[in-house]
Amino acid sequence: MAYDDQNIFAKILRGEIPNDTVYEDEYVLAFKDIFPQAPVHVLVIPKGAYISLDDFSANASDVEISAFFRAVGSIARDLGLVDSGYRILANHGANGGQEVPHFHVHIAGGRRLGRMIQPG
Ligand code: 5GP
Repeated sequence: MAYDDQNIFAKILRGEIPNDTVYEDEYVLAFKDIFPQAPVHVLVIPKGAYISLDDFSANASDVEISAFFRAVGSIARDLGLVDSGYRILANHGANGGQEVPHFHVHIAGGRRLGRMIQPG
């Protein structure tokens, strides 16, 4: 499966679609989810063109991977979520329910999030 450069997050990275940025560096962009599922719901994406965690973990450089996961932790700290707790989540493919084919991690918090996986 090839990376689709017309996906919505690719358009956000090119500045073709606006976003509510909470963090940006050379490797990473983070912005508020447009349909938040919790009081805090941020998406963290690499700037490189990776379809999902499968692609990212197999093909991204060590620098990209470390920059990405350091940013996830740093953003959660900056959002004030460490003491109250938060969840990170990354969907891959159909069973994972991935909607946007550009790797992203959800950071959610601000309330009790309940069970990790909904029944059936
Ligand atoms: P997935 O199901 O692929 O893990 O999650 C995709 C997420 O992207 C969803 O939570 C959805 O609300 C969010 N999303 C989809 N389109 C946009 C958009 O144009 N802007 C922002 N900020 N979030 C979006």
